[in-house]
Amino acid sequence: MRKGHTSGIVRDAACRVSDEPRECCGIMGVFGIDNAAELAYRGLYALQHRGQESAGIVASDGKSIQSKKGLGLLSEAIKPSELADLPGHIAVGHVRYSTTGSKRIQNIQPLVIEYANGIVAIAHNGNLTNARSLRSYYQSCGSIFQTSTDSEIIVHLLADPQYRDAADPPGKVLSQIRGAYSLVMMDASSLVAARDPHGFRPLSLGKLDGGFVVASETCVFDLLAAKFLRDVEPGEIVEFGHGVPNSRLFGRAGQSTLSRCIFEYIYFARPDSVVFGETVHNVRLRLGENLARTWPVEADVVFSVPDSGNSPALGYSRRSGIPLDSGFIRNHYVGRTFIMPAGDTRSSEVKIKLNVIRDVVEGKRVVVVDDSIVRGTTCKAKVHTLRQAGAREVHLRISAPPIRFPCFYGIDFPHADELIAGEKSVEEIRDFLGVDSLGYQTVEGLVTAVPGSRESYCLACFTGEYPVEVTEDMDKYAMERRYQVGARGDLP
Ligand code: AMP
Repeated sequence: MRKGHTSGIVRDAACRVSDEPRECCGIMGVFGIDNAAELAYRGLYALQHRGQESAGIVASDGKSIQSKKGLGLLSEAIKPSELADLPGHIAVGHVRYSTTGSKRIQNIQPLVIEYANGIVAIAHNGNLTNARSLRSYYQSCGSIFQTSTDSEIIVHLLADPQYRDAADPPGKVLSQIRGAYSLVMMDASSLVAARDPHGFRPLSLGKLDGGFVVASETCVFDLLAAKFLRDVEPGEIVEFGHGVPNSRLFGRAGQSTLSRCIFEYIYFARPDSVVFGETVHNVRLRLGENLARTWPVEADVVFSVPDSGNSPALGYSRRSGIPLDSGFIRNHYVGRTFIMPAGDTRSSEVKIKLNVIRDVVEGKRVVVVDDSIVRGTTCKAKVHTLRQAGAREVHLRISAPPIRFPCFYGIDFPHADELIAGEKSVEEIRDFLGVDSLGYQTVEGLVTAVPGSRESYCLACFTGEYPVEVTEDMDKYAMERRYQVGARGDLP
């Protein structure tokens, strides 16, 4: 592991005006069930929290492949009536996470390409750390790239004759890529599910009606009434084609250390999902209990910033004995969109999303439990609304430790200089937010709340210890920088 290993990485603010190749997403695969696209559609509904920028489904009846994709929420991207155009028993689906900047239609997944061996579709969750150098290599050989996503490199590798004609093409291809990836790939007659050897992102396997379902989170199986079988193992390829599914390990599966993303538990996953073998709600309850133990305070009421703060607020209340109430009410028709235009609009955006129940807050000493502080700007706006509603004291408890370092493996955090804890001490953050007290989770508290050993998790955003070395420019816009510059006519 290398601490804070981001040296030499180019930062180019001018490039922050376009869309981003960083993929924080939800993926789905269905094999061997007649209405596969419809199941994928329903499953993607359960994964909508993992991405709201775009959605897509690709299906096959064994002979031909059809796809539907669009920008926005699933319901906007694909109309239920369009599912009739996606017949067949194999499907993959994807929801893509939204951050800032414009959206590019070409980046919508699943990516579908035609190459020498037929048509292949791929849906990817995670971030590849060597995509840029591989892309440069293929570009120098004359390959043409159509998207600015890191995922596209996987299809170029698949099309490369040295891997395409190998004994195990998916295994050979996945052995070339580094970083975080849970993915599903399909051709006209088979489906492949795979997870990187470090197991950064979740991916689970279920059974339904004689067929199989693969999904980023197990809440999909509940919705589809599928039976959860097991997680796809780190470094495992599961291939569904003719006969029983074929499972094998690839690349450095046995030699790589586990680096499961702990932030899935804190923020990203749904509380009703079982991630890395534990129900997310249970982990969040323990995080809240830890906060009550570490940061006790005399107060009248505890409440959460919904939704990721709900379970830890319950844990805090149970452990402290301070009554739990609903201080914030969330408008569920506003997406989980996180990065909004800078400046004044932020506080009005917060008001669109959250309102305060004045009676719960007025004249009270309140403990507010939120999952994390990233830039601190929306957090500050939330505190402001509590003060406006007459809160006497505001004590903020955060179920994550201070986020000090960017994530290069698929969680969309800004650069270190935009992370408030990357720049300020806890006391300075408390002062900036305008709260009476601020208590963060400790890293030790966090690792005791999750199953398995500390070493089996990636804690890079808190500790700066990156389990997979990052030597390339991992700026979100790295792969469209050339395009941008070229468009302005700056290239020689
Ligand atoms: P801020 O006040 O700008 O630091 O935003 C903090 C809020 O952003 C928290 O309440 C989290 O729920 C949410 N959040 C944390 N991490 C992410 C992420 N990677 N993407 C989107 N939202 C996030």
